[in-house]
Formats: sequence, structure tokens, C-alpha cells
Amino acid sequence: MIDSKKIYGWGRNKFADCTVFTPLNEEKLKKIVRNADYKSLIARGLGRSYGDSAQLDKKSVVSLSNFNSFQLDTDNHVVTAEAGISFDELLSFIVPKGYFLPVSPGTRFVTVGGAVASDVHGKNHHINGSFGQNLKQIILMDGTGEIHKLRPFDDLNPHNVKKFWATVGGMGLTGIILEATFSVIPISSSYIKVDTKRFLDIDSLMNAMVKADKKYKYSVAWVDSLNKNFRGVLSCGEHLDKSQLTKDLAEKPLDYSIKALATAPKFFPSGLLNKFTVKTFNEAWFRKHPKLRYGEIQSIGQFFYPLDGINNWNRIYGSEGFIQYQFVVPDKASYLISKTLEKLRKISAPSFLTVLKRFGKNNPGYLSFPIAGWTLAIDIPSNIKNLNQELSKLDKEIVSEGGRIYLAKDSRQSPEIFRESYQMLDDWIEIKRGLDPYEIFMSDSFLRLLRI
Ligand SMILES: Cc1cc2nc3c(=O)[nH]c(=O)nc-3n(C[C@H](O)[C@H](O)[C@H](O)COP(=O)(O)OP(=O)(O)OC[C@H]3O[C@@H](n4cnc5c(N)ncnc54)[C@H](O)[C@@H]3O)c2cc1C
Repeated sequence: MIDSKKIYGWGRNKFADCTVFTPLNEEKLKKIVRNADYKSLIARGLGRSYGDSAQLDKKSVVSLSNFNSFQLDTDNHVVTAEAGISFDELLSFIVPKGYFLPVSPGTRFVTVGGAVASDVHGKNHHINGSFGQNLKQIILMDGTGEIHKLRPFDDLNPHNVKKFWATVGGMGLTGIILEATFSVIPISSSYIKVDTKRFLDIDSLMNAMVKADKKYKYSVAWVDSLNKNFRGVLSCGEHLDKSQLTKDLAEKPLDYSIKALATAPKFFPSGLLNKFTVKTFNEAWFRKHPKLRYGEIQSIGQFFYPLDGINNWNRIYGSEGFIQYQFVVPDKASYLISKTLEKLRKISAPSFLTVLKRFGKNNPGYLSFPIAGWTLAIDIPSNIKNLNQELSKLDKEIVSEGGRIYLAKDSRQSPEIFRESYQMLDDWIEIKRGLDPYEIFMSDSFLRLLRI
């Protein structure tokens, strides 16, 4: 199927006019690839990347929504899934069978292809790494239509290992991912035991997060970015064993039923989110949480996907959209977390969604985002005065300390910042050239980032 559309990233601050191909099968996809011109095509999943990585203005995107079959191998605790299937569809099958995904981002509306291409991370990065660390194999169609089976370890063909790690986190630029095989986690219940604690300032919150890493599989903190001390709420969780369920939940221990609570209206006036409305929201959100609570039982939806509770919540930023600024810095530069928050507060950037998380070790992915340290993600309306200038100054400080910006969230970093922070870029470009000799795969994001 061929369609013509205006498409957006989740931040809705950039759009592209694209032809959208939705091939029915591999043969049809191969034809599209073989007929594609220079810099004319990029794969697109569910468009949950915030910036301009899944679009290519005046050219084409290819959707794998017809590639959605999968198998669960219960002997080896492994799933093999076609790239177009969403995490939500997978979860609705594997959770009732007693399995959970090895890594999940903060929304279940991502495809397997998008999760591999962005090498997504979740609340358990400090223990389980990113999605790439849990992959056994991927199948890739390169820029000539040839199929590659790529694994993270391959003694017989080390060059394939390089292609694997160039594709994991490679943002769709090495080819079209057709299928992925990855491990899944056995669970005896679909519930999470959650400990929650409020902190009155960012230092005590960060100290507690370092300790929480050693104790919990999942941990994440919300930060009140408008509060003078950057107070926050830390939530830590573990999968709950079936034997610990209350009587009513024990009747359906592997329930997976998540319903969105509401849908955001189509039109929101720009400016609705300002320093005052967000301050009020943040105050209420902080107070909503107890000072300290142990062992609350939450569903998968409550713990992993609270934002999915409101359909199209991105619309609340109005027509100009928003930027999610997500960066990571190594532990030695932890001071940049509060410095960033300070600088953004100074320009009155109102954020109700500010998330702090610790990362464990990096993987060999050439363009994978996570490195050990701290990652901060902060949503900011695009129309804030001086936002770009301030973020550009912050970019420089982050990069000078060995940090980097997440490509799946980015829509604005400069080629210089990108090159300096993703230091294996030249090696990655060489592998991309091998896989895509006619350079058909390109995105608006990489047109911007490679222009140097
Ligand atoms: C509410 C929300 C919370 C989020 N939380 C997190 C989080 O906690 N951690 C995290 O890591 N990310 C998070 N994200 C970002 C999201 O996980 C990534 O952007 C993910 O890549 C989106 O998947 P998608 O299927 O929508 O891909 P798209 O957004 O459509 O595409 C993303 C990239 O993947 C490429 N791609 C997609 N399919 C294929 C394919 N078949 N072959 C090759 N390349 C392909 C595209 O070209 C593009 O470069 C969040 C996003 C939202 C909206």
C-alpha cells in the first residue's frame, strides 16, 4: 500500500511530507528497496521517537505494520518477532504465559524494529542493559535488498558482529530490520512490588538512587524541576512472586489488561503549560506520593507505562510541540544534573515530566546511547524563549564531560556535538557504507547530524 502523509515525531515540533510504503511481504519490501533512489528511504515504526529520526521530508518512509508474527520458545525463554509488532501486542500474549520483556521503554507503543534501532533502555538498565544486550539475533535487509542474519557473537564471521552492533542503535540507517530474537524474563505474576520515597532535594535523591541500584531490579525518579531544591520521588520495583499476591489478585496472577484512562483533546492552546500551571501540577504530583511506602502492588500498566494512561498526551503542548532533552553523563559529571535543572529553571522552562535514572555499563553499539552514569530526560515546550541557545550551551558542557544526547529524543543537536560525543561515528559510517552502498537510507535526523 502507498499513502502520502504529513508525519511527525512524538514531540510534534517537526514534520515531514512523506510517501508511506506499507509492503505486504518481504518480496514487496525488497522491490521498494531495490527501486529506491539515493537518500530516499527510512523505516518507521510507531513514530514514538520524539524528534526527526523516523521521517524524511519529500521522500519515503516504510512501515512494517504487516510484519507482525512472532513465536515464544518457552524451553529457551526466547521470543522471535517480526519487526512491525508492538511491545503491547507482544505483552498481551507473553504475560499470560508467564513472561515479560527483558527491557521496556516508558511506553508499550513501540515496535520491535524501533526498539532495536534506538537500542531502547528501561528502568532496569543498571542490571539488564539496553534492548541490544538481550538480543540473540536480528535479520536485516540491507540497501541492496540482501538479507543478513546478525548476532552479537559470531566466531566464524566477526564482521557480522560489527554489522549487528552498527544496526543496534543505528536508527534505521544500516537497513531495514525484519526480525529480532531476544530473551524474555519468566514471571509468576504480572504485578510489581513497589517501594516509593519522597526526597526534599536532588542530592539526597541521587544518593538514594545509587544505593537503590544495588537493591532493586527497576528504579526511576521523578524530579520537580521548578522546585528550588529539585525535590523528587523515587520509585523502585521488583516482579512480585505469585505466592505474595492478595487473594483477589491471585485469581488472575498473570492478568494483562491495560486501558487508557482518557484521550487528550485534539486542540490545546499553546501556552497552557506555563511556569504557574506546571508548578501547581508538580506540587500536587509530589504530594500525591507518600513520604515513604513499601510494598505497594502495581500492575504492569501502572508501573511501566503511566504515560500511556492518556492517549495522545503529546497534544497538550499545542501546535508548536515540545522537545524532550535527554542526555547521559558519567558519574564524574553528576553535577551537570542539577546544573542543567538550574539553567532550565532560569529560563522558566516548565516541565512536569522530568525523569532521572542511572545507567549501567554500555554495550558495543556504535551509536547506542547508554553509558554508565546519570541520564536526565526533561520535556520542555518548544516555544520557550532562549531555549535553543540554552540547550546548545548545555550540549557543550555535557559533551566536554564525556556525555551525549539520545538520538531517539533529539531534534536539534548540532553535527559537531554529535560527532564529538558519539566517538565511533567514523567506524559506523564505514559499516553503513558496506551495508548501504548506494546510500538509500537516510532520515531528516541524519541529514542534520551528518552535515559537517
Ligand atoms: C512516552 C514515551 C516514553 C518513552 N520512554 C523511553 C524510555 O524509557 N527509554 C527509551 O529508550 N526510549 C523511550 N522512548 C522512545 C522510544 O522508545 C523510541 O523512540 C523507540 O525507538 C520508538 O519506537 P517506534 O517503533 O515508535 O519507532 P519510530 O519512532 O517509528 O522510529 C525510531 C527509529 O527506529 C527506526 N526504525 C523503526 N523501525 C525500524 C525497522 N524495522 N528497521 C530499521 N529501523 C527501524 C526509525 O528509522 C527511527 O530511526 C519513549 C517514547 C515515548 C513516546
